[in-house]
Amino acid sequence: MTYETVIGVEVHAQLQTRTKLFCGCSTSFGQSPNSQVCPTCLGLPGSLPVLNQAAVELAIRAGLALHCELTGSNQFSRKNYFYPDLPKGYQISQYDLPICGMGWLDITVNGRDKRVRIRRAHLEEDAGKNLHDDQLDGSGVDLNRAGTPLLEIVTEPDLHSSDEVDAYLKALREVLVYLGVCDGNMEQGSFRCEPNVSIRPVGQSYLGTKVELKNINSFRYAKEAIEFEVRRQQEVLDEGGTLRQETRLWDVQRGQTAVMRSKEEAHDYRYFPDPDLLPVQLDEEWIKELSSKLPELPGEKFQRFLDEYGLPEYDAKILTESKELAEYFEACVQLYPQSKIVSNWVMGELLRELNQQGIRASASPVSPERLVELLQLVETGTVSLKVARELFPELYLSGKNPEDLVKEKGLLQLSDEGQLEALIETVLASHPSQVEQYRNGKETVLGYIVGQVMKASGGKANPGKVNTLLKNKLSA
Ligand code: ADP
Ligand code: MG
Ligand code: ZN
Repeated sequence: MTYETVIGVEVHAQLQTRTKLFCGCSTSFGQSPNSQVCPTCLGLPGSLPVLNQAAVELAIRAGLALHCELTGSNQFSRKNYFYPDLPKGYQISQYDLPICGMGWLDITVNGRDKRVRIRRAHLEEDAGKNLHDDQLDGSGVDLNRAGTPLLEIVTEPDLHSSDEVDAYLKALREVLVYLGVCDGNMEQGSFRCEPNVSIRPVGQSYLGTKVELKNINSFRYAKEAIEFEVRRQQEVLDEGGTLRQETRLWDVQRGQTAVMRSKEEAHDYRYFPDPDLLPVQLDEEWIKELSSKLPELPGEKFQRFLDEYGLPEYDAKILTESKELAEYFEACVQLYPQSKIVSNWVMGELLRELNQQGIRASASPVSPERLVELLQLVETGTVSLKVARELFPELYLSGKNPEDLVKEKGLLQLSDEGQLEALIETVLASHPSQVEQYRNGKETVLGYIVGQVMKASGGKANPGKVNTLLKNKLSA
């Protein structure tokens, strides 16, 4: 039997606000347990929530970028369940009236364009965190994260492979980071995803039973968990079994998914409008203003890099994948308007060093000004391209100015004709048979002889000049 894979994804993105969704406690990460709590986020009786306007603003920005319908009057609801990390006994979320309705995000999967429909995006508060630590005498609860604002973004079941999910997650994260809506830090849990996976025999019109994969915090785990789950479901069906709708967890050690609980239904949560919070009326003027302040998004920047700089798609894609790298590139091109040369250096030498050390482009020890200085040294023939490339890692480590470094290391390109001729004489004298071959018409030996001269100069000879001088000499 051949099956089709069907996947819808829920993403929880932490909104980049200074304070929590309904109180003034700080949202900063990594503080000592329960140091960022107050009566409201502890759920003490008599405390009341007050909505953080900054969170609403970020949700609207995300909604606009994802082409969502904004719900003029949206509403918070209580989602009731018991768990030790949820002191109120309910989570404040949005149910039937989410802030963002239907929208879409365009992605590219293996060179193919695809539109993923967004079903909704709603605001909700995060829960706390249970700690099961050997250091503790038992288990503890850290409520620093309780009440942190999240935007839950839900797609239609439009995705059909782990590659499509991967592309969607990366594109969505990129948009949110570009917008400043979310910092995108997956290790710290600022961007978590839950793929809902089902399969169905090809040709069947209704969807199969889905399994929800919970709280995955890396692109790789998402891919592995989906692939495992698809195989598992196929095996169950092929053996004549039936699938159960359930929530499963990805076990990193074992490389498999395991049942966490059978799937709850919405009615289990007894959702009802939170009587402590008024419906949120979105002001048209405010939305217009936010819309006009929306930054250039990755897709738009990509297109502009093609049009404005005439870059190949490959370059434009890599450079616009990170906003900071794109800004770095543009800062260089401002100073040195040769976009393809700059692109080669930024994607090649610079990115290699940055990636190796996990450093962001904005924190690069080589500033755009310094990189451009190096490019100018190449252009004026002060150093050869080869030397400049070899020098880059050292430039990166030392943070020195390229000209000083070149001088200090005695790497100035050798262009003086007298010195070059002397070098050439020595090389020719020690390679009589190659000289002979060349004179007998085997022109391809020239490359070899040039190489020998370059070697004799320690890579510093100006290759163009060597070529000309050699030809003159050999035909004399
Ligand atoms: P729940 O209420 O269980 O969270 P929803 O219907 O709200 O389920 O859908 C949650 C996510 O699961 C959405 O992204 C949706 O597209 C996706 N989804 C729903 N049904 C299926 C299915 N049969 N197979 C794969 N994904 C599905
Ligand atoms: Mg769900
Ligand atoms: Zn608080």
